[in-house]
Amino acid sequence: MNSLIQKYNIPGPRYTSYPTVPFWDETTFSEAAWIRHLQRAFTISNTTNGISLYIHLPYCESLCTFCGCNKRITRNHGVEVPYIDALLAEWTLYCNLLPEKPRIAELHLGGGTPSFLLPNNSNDF
Ligand code: SF4
Repeated sequence: MNSLIQKYNIPGPRYTSYPTVPFWDETTFSEAAWIRHLQRAFTISNTTNGISLYIHLPYCESLCTFCGCNKRITRNHGVEVPYIDALLAEWTLYCNLLPEKPRIAELHLGGGTPSFLLPNNSNDF
């Protein structure tokens, strides 16, 4: 047990970056390489179990003092529709890069506070 504590008692990247920051390599990064990785990972998942989709909904009405998340504090629910429009536009961009129609096996909503969205806007997903 003590060796496990020593092994993992080190600073690490936050779980919100994929791939985690220590694995970023700006010297070999290119849009073409990213598209190749996307299409390869998509094809493997889509033809087996289907893909898992994560949607980040960054809005919260108040700030928790311990928060380290990527969030926007606001009570202005007017931000919802433009954000949903942007998400749908991004989804279209992804779909245009994919070789076949996605089979969505899992949908994960995170934030922020996913329940920030008004019921009418939640139906857009
Ligand atoms: S993202 Fe979560 S932890 Fe951060 S302010 Fe919103 S509800 Fe609180």
